[in-house]
Amino acid sequence: MDLTFSERETAFRDELRAWFAANDPGPEPPHVEELHYAWRRDFQRRLYEGGWAAPHWPVEHGGRGATLTESAIYFEELGRARAPLPANVLGLLLGGPTLMAWGTSEQCERFLGPILSAEEIWCQGFSEPEAGSDLAALKTRAVPDGDDWIVTGQKVWTSGAQHSKWCMLVARTDPDGPKHKGLTYFLMDMEQPEVQVRPLRQITGEAEFNELFIEGARISGEHVVGGVGNGWKVALTTLMNERAGLAFFLQVGLRRLLDDLIDEAAARGLLDDDVAADRLGALHVKAEILRLTAYRGLTAVEKYGQPGPEGSLTKWMWSESNQELVQLAAELLGGEALVAGTPWGYELLRARGNTIEGGTTEILKNIVAERVLGLPRAR
Ligand SMILES: Cc1cc2nc3c(=O)[nH]c(=O)nc-3n(C[C@H](O)[C@H](O)[C@H](O)COP(=O)(O)OP(=O)(O)OC[C@H]3O[C@@H](n4cnc5c(N)ncnc54)[C@H](O)[C@@H]3O)c2cc1C
Repeated sequence: MDLTFSERETAFRDELRAWFAANDPGPEPPHVEELHYAWRRDFQRRLYEGGWAAPHWPVEHGGRGATLTESAIYFEELGRARAPLPANVLGLLLGGPTLMAWGTSEQCERFLGPILSAEEIWCQGFSEPEAGSDLAALKTRAVPDGDDWIVTGQKVWTSGAQHSKWCMLVARTDPDGPKHKGLTYFLMDMEQPEVQVRPLRQITGEAEFNELFIEGARISGEHVVGGVGNGWKVALTTLMNERAGLAFFLQVGLRRLLDDLIDEAAARGLLDDDVAADRLGALHVKAEILRLTAYRGLTAVEKYGQPGPEGSLTKWMWSESNQELVQLAAELLGGEALVAGTPWGYELLRARGNTIEGGTTEILKNIVAERVLGLPRAR
């Protein structure tokens, strides 16, 4: 990938910077749930109104058809402006691209607009109590009922389900076939009494994720994505977009947090401490490696039309670097980072989940070993 900006790319960046200059996201509110979430939703609406919710989407679907370099500029500028992760991040980065790859034109027409505007929030109903890393072991059942499907089962760790209108749901439609083959990918309407959402409170004090109890929920046959029995392949598209797309956004967040920590350390005269400076320097190098690896992930999208398994490497590197960063913050800033309710205290506690969410580090290492390095399968 050529990282030198063309005239068009410079113009894109300048237009975006001018937009951010006129649309300051303002200071980040505390992680008292509704306050923080409302900030993210409101800012996504502003991005949408300005035509900036998903510039990497094709023009016919409401994006700007941004090139890969422009997409990279977009994420960097979001970070620079200290803009929040959009409220509908799962729709924008996972659901939308999955529909564009596997959905019918009617589904794209129906669903993509409200994802962009944050009018309809999406969540990801993949994990179950006994199916996380081994997703294909999932037990939630969908049985046909005329043209519809009736779904029964339980999902867990469903981020944002309490705000969501649609759930990307993978369910078993053929209990007799091989476990990867009998799955189907659905879009489930969350607004029905047969879907119960129960929040799970995290160590940070907020409840980002939930349990879903599904007892005979109805899904229209029109809301099957990619064909009955093809759910495994469609789910992989979602997961690859999660690791590559989200990781690109997250590496920008890592840079921002590291810059904050360097500023805090400088204000305390800690940059003269060789050990502190050395550890901050090492994190700076990791942040740069991560940035360039994320760019390489974008090149894979250019070559193959969708993200490759390299996204797993970026997600693995990001999660470990982020945990190292917040740990260093706790050591350098002491009490301030260890008190609940402070921004650094929040980051320290929230980072514990980084090596689990979106695929655990062990699973990502397996993917990198087998599918990037071509090593023999372990099992
Ligand atoms: C903050 C957060 C948000 C989340 N949001 C969502 C969401 O929105 N939607 C959703 O569907 N899920 C979500 N998840 C769930 C997440 O995807 C799962 O937690 C993850 O896939 C791991 O599954 P599990 O928890 O069942 O652990 P398990 O799969 O039971 O794993 C337990 C341990 O065993 C290890 N292990 C398992 N298999 C192997 C193997 N083959 N080789 C080596 N080690 C292995 C794992 O690495 C882990 O350390 C979220 C999780 C978190 C923490």
